[in-house]
Amino acid sequence: MLKIGVLALQGAVQEHVKSLQAPDVETVVVKRMDQLEALDGLVFPGGESTTMRRLVDKYGFFEPLREFAAAGKPIFGTCAGLILMAEHIVNETEGHLQVMPIEVQRNAFGRQRESFETHLSVKDVGEDIDAVFIRAPLISAVDESVEVLSEFEGEIVAARRDHLLACSFHPELTEDTRFHQYFVQMVRESKETAPSHAAVT
Ligand code: GLN
Repeated sequence: MLKIGVLALQGAVQEHVKSLQAPDVETVVVKRMDQLEALDGLVFPGGESTTMRRLVDKYGFFEPLREFAAAGKPIFGTCAGLILMAEHIVNETEGHLQVMPIEVQRNAFGRQRESFETHLSVKDVGEDIDAVFIRAPLISAVDESVEVLSEFEGEIVAARRDHLLACSFHPELTEDTRFHQYFVQMVRESKETAPSHAAVT
């Protein structure tokens, strides 16, 4: 069985749990850092990134999460979760976990379009992916090691770098589970190619 956690400090946790369902997946609602060790992959939900960062610090998650990423275990960040992962945040002095070499711009779609739904083509995931944007960030720059998976009106809204996957929108708020199932497949492949993961952390 694959064990995939959803970081449950804030945000839509149960929706992610639902979208991750697969016969070989056991989901874990992660509230304490000692739960991380047993996991093969982890989802960072959306919410509000500064609040989430405060809770990450308060519950001692900061270093354990960076180690989780450094150990090569897959992480999927959606919306505020993407902001947590980014190395740089436009107009802010420092990023949060800084595990993914991308730059993000928060609340990038303006007041007129705080929240909207659209359909996107996402490389390797599928066509017509149902995407809900809520005060969403965009990815304003990427390192050359990062693969752009999707753009919306010329702006990057989904990207992958090795075991790290991130998107600006909320795939967990739709019935379309293809994005989550793509991540589940990343976790499967990571576990197959690195069976010693459990020993690394
Ligand atoms: N606007 C939020 C932030 O900057 C992210 C919104 C979301 O996760 N839906 O953290």
